[in-house]
Amino acid sequence: MKALAQSLQNVKAYIRPVDFYRSELPAMPPQRGSGWRDGGLCPFHLDKHAGSFRVNLETGAFLCFSCGSKGGDIIAFIQQRDGLSFPEAVQKLSNEWGL
Ligand SMILES: [Zn+2]
Repeated sequence: MKALAQSLQNVKAYIRPVDFYRSELPAMPPQRGSGWRDGGLCPFHLDKHAGSFRVNLETGAFLCFSCGSKGGDIIAFIQQRDGLSFPEAVQKLSNEWGL
């Protein structure tokens, strides 16, 4: 198993938030550009109406105006959605993205 610091560096260097969210949020409307965008249905609460969940395709930050879930990057997203610790989330991302 690779050291956490190395995995973290790889996650940050190789997983672009825009690619990550396209893969993790199938309901996210197709869109161009970067910065804050409509993320489609919120994965943190039982969301039936898209419109309150936003993701930042540049930084990976996310925010839901409906349930209040928020985080600063894609690692925080995985931690909160899957109930993982920081090292576990980094490991999961490295494994899933073949880093
Ligand atoms: Zn929500």
